[in-house]
Amino acid sequence: MSETRHIDSFARTLLEPLLERLQTPSRSGWQLMGWDAEQGFQLTLGKGQDVLLIELERRDDERDCYARTQRFNLCVRRAFQAGAPLTEEERRVVLQVASIVRAREGLLPVVTRPTTSTRARVRELEVERVLIPEGAGHYYVNPYVGCMIGCDFCYVADRADFSRELEGQPHLPWGRYVDVKLNAAAVLRQEVARARPGIVRMSPILTDPYQALERRYRITRQCLEVLADARFTPVILTRAARVVEDLDVLGRFERAAVGLSIPTDDDRVRQHFEPGGDPIEERLDALRRCHAAGLRTYVIIQPMLPMDPARLVALTAPYVRAVRIDRMYELQRTAHLYREFGRPDAMQDAFFEQTGAALRAGFAEHGIALDDLDDLGRSLGLLEG
Ligand code: SF4
Repeated sequence: MSETRHIDSFARTLLEPLLERLQTPSRSGWQLMGWDAEQGFQLTLGKGQDVLLIELERRDDERDCYARTQRFNLCVRRAFQAGAPLTEEERRVVLQVASIVRAREGLLPVVTRPTTSTRARVRELEVERVLIPEGAGHYYVNPYVGCMIGCDFCYVADRADFSRELEGQPHLPWGRYVDVKLNAAAVLRQEVARARPGIVRMSPILTDPYQALERRYRITRQCLEVLADARFTPVILTRAARVVEDLDVLGRFERAAVGLSIPTDDDRVRQHFEPGGDPIEERLDALRRCHAAGLRTYVIIQPMLPMDPARLVALTAPYVRAVRIDRMYELQRTAHLYREFGRPDAMQDAFFEQTGAALRAGFAEHGIALDDLDDLGRSLGLLEG
């Protein structure tokens, strides 16, 4: 029997003064464009082309953040403009959000968390929301929450656990739980009927849309069918080769993009660092088949793992339009993997700088777009008329 999730109602309690003005500009012109509660609480605020993402994480005085409240660290970043500093006006907007959170966080229930369990858990859920706006004509959809591929470096693990903690779900190690949104396609069908068509990322983080459970539940496929009917544009990202099982439905879109995460050319490295992911050769084959099917394909090399950069460029460049390259961020959690593999050098800044430079130069020689702004819509030409 499916369960009901409570985290959305907690978000409504905390953020009510903001959510009741959803899509309505304030006097300063800023408006709340979207919100989410699956990885802590997230708010997307927009004004013209400027989009701010405010993330409420578990309070941790050891971590840098923009502002702190009793229970939360508030982090802020710009969407689609990596690294650009906030303006004075934007800083004021963020501080207003912080003061609303401070005034209302006492209204959140303090739920006792059951004892930690180590059993894997698949929770079948009915949800109220699926299509999450993230500004500038972009949305995202997470067909699942959690990922049984279970990479040690998955940087969303702590934030996803925070939402489970707020809801009173037991702590389970990352990779040992998945929430399945059984009614996702039905909810999405209602949402797209009211929304302006745009780009829908599946799934930017938090889950892999083609993890093994997809073969049983087909939630990703059902959502794609809804998006195809409604003329939205999907941008898929996966570490799983079974994305090719949906080539038929992906072929229904005028434009559809599929990206494979391929962080190394060496399958021994893959086996060590992401043993739950598909072999590199299978991912390359999936990339080639998506390319041959006429989809707009891209590759994500994140985190850069020990590799031969020239070989990885040669294996992927003929089959992609765009590439995004980034370093490993979860070094504390993954240091043991580097040591056990005998490559502690590959967790140093110098490795990321040199490998990143070699990859960038290699892809540039092939005329492949480098997506440094996390805006695949632009890099893949999905926003063209
Ligand atoms: S496949 Fe992606 S979502 Fe799944 S654990 Fe690995 S990095 Fe996280």
